[in-house]
Amino acid sequence: MDDAYLAQLVDLHKRQKRQGPGGEAETGRAMALANLQKSEPLRIADIGCGTGASTLQLANSLNAEITAVDFLPEFIEALKDNAEAGGLSEKIKTLECSMEQLPFAEEEYDVIWSEGAIYNMGFEKGLNEWRRFLKPGGALIVSEITWITNTRPSEIQHYWDAAYPEIATASSKIEILEKSGYSPIGYFVLPESCWLESYYRPLQDGFPAFLARHKDDETATSIIEAEINEIALYKKYKSYYSYGVYVARKFD
Ligand code: SAH
Repeated sequence: MDDAYLAQLVDLHKRQKRQGPGGEAETGRAMALANLQKSEPLRIADIGCGTGASTLQLANSLNAEITAVDFLPEFIEALKDNAEAGGLSEKIKTLECSMEQLPFAEEEYDVIWSEGAIYNMGFEKGLNEWRRFLKPGGALIVSEITWITNTRPSEIQHYWDAAYPEIATASSKIEILEKSGYSPIGYFVLPESCWLESYYRPLQDGFPAFLARHKDDETATSIIEAEINEIALYKKYKSYYSYGVYVARKFD
């Protein structure tokens, strides 16, 4: 991906509430599965936070000090603005950094949260590298692209084998959690509404303004084409894949 392409992709996505499928009810459900209580002070790292959909919800719902990490400065800026607008700046510290080079101390966090982002370094690698930052018994909540049936048409199998070969069924993902030193507590699948209503629809609503900002620009046109193809693929094959939300505890 060249610089111009990335800059425009960021320009399209930074205006959105979320940069991947998700939802408030689902973030709440994951908090409940992890048994996170407002009565206890928590240190949370939200890794690959984007413009902060989950960060802001966690800050609103819990007595938490949150470190929100993303490697894209424009997303971090948007998150800071959103935190300020919501009166949440004191609870949220931002960090512009790669998820593969986190400067955290051992056992610094009660909770590691990551929605729609761990695939960027790979599920297994992320689980292994992030584990040391969790306190013993600390909670890990990650959403990860998952096959939701045991068999599927070859077109979608080939697409994902090329895009993200670590895609697998929940049983394989849970086995990786166990092998990586976590004790699984819960798993659920993001419903269609998290993709179509919470992510793709607002994204599509932004296409005309994006194309107007980048008039007659081939890069912009190709970005929109790629998004349209991704949405069509999801609509065609949504019974076969989604994000799984995995909740686990660090196990010694
Ligand atoms: N959690 C947010 C964003 C998900 S999109 C949400 O659910 O809306 C994935 C995010 O991971 C993007 O914000 C992207 O900038 C970030 N990201 C991708 N690779 C990264 C890396 N190597 N280090 C840190 N952040 C990364």
